Order: sequence, then structure tokens, then C-alpha cells
Amino acid sequence: MSGHIEAKNLSAVRKELMTCTYCGFCKSVCPAFEGVTWDPSVARGRMVLSYGLLQKELPADQSVVDYLYQCTTCKDCERRCPSKVQVVDVVERARKDLVASGHILPKHRTLIDNVLQHGNPYGERKSVREALGQEDKGAEVGYFVGCTAAYRNPSIAKATLSILDKLGVDYAVVDESCCASVLQRVGWNEDDVKEIMEKNVAAMKDRGVKEVLFSCAGCYRMFKEEYPRFVDVPFKARHISEFLAERDLKLAKAEGTITYHDPCHLGRHSHVYDAPRQVIKRIPGIKFQEMPRSGETSRCCGGGGGVRSAFPELSSNIAAKRVDEAAFADMLVTACPFCVNNLRNGQENGRSKTKVMDLVELVEPLL
Ligand code: SF4
Ligand code: SF4
Repeated sequence: MSGHIEAKNLSAVRKELMTCTYCGFCKSVCPAFEGVTWDPSVARGRMVLSYGLLQKELPADQSVVDYLYQCTTCKDCERRCPSKVQVVDVVERARKDLVASGHILPKHRTLIDNVLQHGNPYGERKSVREALGQEDKGAEVGYFVGCTAAYRNPSIAKATLSILDKLGVDYAVVDESCCASVLQRVGWNEDDVKEIMEKNVAAMKDRGVKEVLFSCAGCYRMFKEEYPRFVDVPFKARHISEFLAERDLKLAKAEGTITYHDPCHLGRHSHVYDAPRQVIKRIPGIKFQEMPRSGETSRCCGGGGGVRSAFPELSSNIAAKRVDEAAFADMLVTACPFCVNNLRNGQENGRSKTKVMDLVELVEPLL
């Protein structure tokens, strides 16, 4: 399908689109541009394409659709941009307009159909609670496992459950549905997004949950930053790293050099930088060393924004570059199952033999 589209969502950011001066500073940080090496796949290129769609000067042909979907929504360009252009908002609005006019990538369509039919993008039939063998019960602390930790990286979910058990925390794992991040990132309609949010909030509320813990940076960002824009959230959202940083953890000795990768959705999107580092630095015997690009300037793993599913090669190449940056370390620790998976994908292509693991997998055996 091609042709001009009705760009209703983009029309609300017409001014933002005209704020871009095309200075090109975003080129120095965009992970997608580094892989594609072609201007339409950098923030300023995406601004031009979005403006073209809005003005009906550009048809939504396959190349325009692809370039707008190669953005990982990492937000690094926004940090670098002297004009403070809200690039991710513009890209996600353009995607909404594309989807509304029938332009959706087949891989994304499958993920969305799976979420709407089965409650997770992987099409798994068991609920998260059943997959982890958890009883249905109430508690003041809820653990929102997330689809990737539940179905693709269960060692992260199990390590989290074990940590909570070891700390004597009474917790509930509810029958959650995908947090709806995948729907929002690829531009699916807000009615379905809101319905999922309401369902997840009700599941926690019905079981008396007052505080919800998250393994996944993407799910955490959704509950902390996005859910309150659509629904009333009657509980506190905390990433597991924040929960652990507040505890007086007595950790066993370990050895080696550890570095930390900031997930974009935990760092730049949710501003959680210190908590995971505090936890790692409490391990006696280890040496903690930052990568050259860390914290606010951290480089993306390449997995977000629907890029992993639609452009796996680009995604793995971005991940390989990130893993190579950690080649000095014995362990590359992060705090998101999706980043763990993608960094491991990149490792297959890269030179680094550094062990990639999640923070909870590092902490659990030391507790
Ligand atoms: S850095 Fe900002 S103003 Fe400059 S080209 Fe990129 S998006 Fe536009
Ligand atoms: S959000 Fe990240 S991937 Fe997207 S344009 Fe900006 S720097 Fe590039």
C-alpha cells in the first residue's frame, strides 16, 4: 500500500517538526544511522520524512515506512539535539499515522495480534503466573514479570523470585497481560493500549497490591511514565534495581571487572541511573568500571522500538558494537531482559567474550 496519508497525529507537532535546524548533531549518536549510514535513518531524516507525510509531499512508500521504523526510540538524539526536538514523540506519532492508514510491518502485525489474542507478543498460551508456577494470591508487593523474562529469559524471572524469597518479601504474581509497550512503540491505536492498561491495573488492585516491582526497563517505563497519562495508577512502580538499592544487602564476595549497560527505557526515558550501580558496587571484591558511553550518554543495545523484530540484522549489528565497548570487562551487566537478549545476539556477531547478564542474575547467587 502506498500514497499520501492523513497525518492527524503529526499535525499536532507541526511546530516541533519546524524546530529541527537540520544541523546534523544527531548523526554523531544515532545507533540506527551508524548501521544504515543513510540520512533518512537519522533523527533529522525522520523529521524530513514526517514533515513530508504531514504536508502530503511524500507518499508513504515502503522506504519511508522502513526508515521511520528503524528508530529504536533510544532518545539519544534528544539529549544531543541543540534545539531539543522531541524526536521520539514525532517518530511515534508518524508511526500512529502510518498504522491508522494501513501501513504496518508484517512482523509488527504478528506481535500485536499475539498481544491482543494471547496477552503476550510471543504467542505463548500459558499465563505468566502459570509459566512460573505461581499461585494466585494477594500481597502488598506485586511483581510484574514482563513477557521476555517470563517466556524467553525465565532465569531472570526465577532469580527475581528467589531474591524476593531470600529477603522474606511477601509478593503476588498476577495474571498480567503484556504492558502494551510494543503496541505503543509501533503506533497501534490508543483504545487497545488503554484497555490493556486498565486490565493490568485492575489485576494488581484486586489483589491489594500497593507497590509493583519490575524486571523489565520497558514495562517499568510504561507503568511509571505512560500508564498515568491514560489511567489512574493506585500503586507505586519501582524497578527491581531501585528496590534492591534501598536494602541493606549482605552480598558474598565475587571477583572480576564488571561494567553496566543502561537500558534506554530505564535511563534516558525513566531517569534511573544510580540504583543498579549502587547494587553492583556493594559486591565485595569486584572492580566496577564504566564504559566510555554510560549513564545519559549510554549507547542503545539496538533492541527497542520494534527494531529487533522488523530489522534483526540492524539490531544485532548495533548490539555487537555495544558489547565490543565492554570488551575490557569480565561481565556486562544490565537491568532489562530485552537488553540481555539483544546484547547476547550482538555478541554472536562481535568479538567480545564478556559475559552478559542481568543484575538479578548477578545478585541472586551472592545473597
Ligand atoms: S540535532 Fe536536532 S536540530 Fe539538529 S538535525 Fe538532529 S533533530 Fe534536527
Ligand atoms: S531515538 Fe535513537 S534511533 Fe531514533 S533517531 Fe534518535 S538516536 Fe536514532
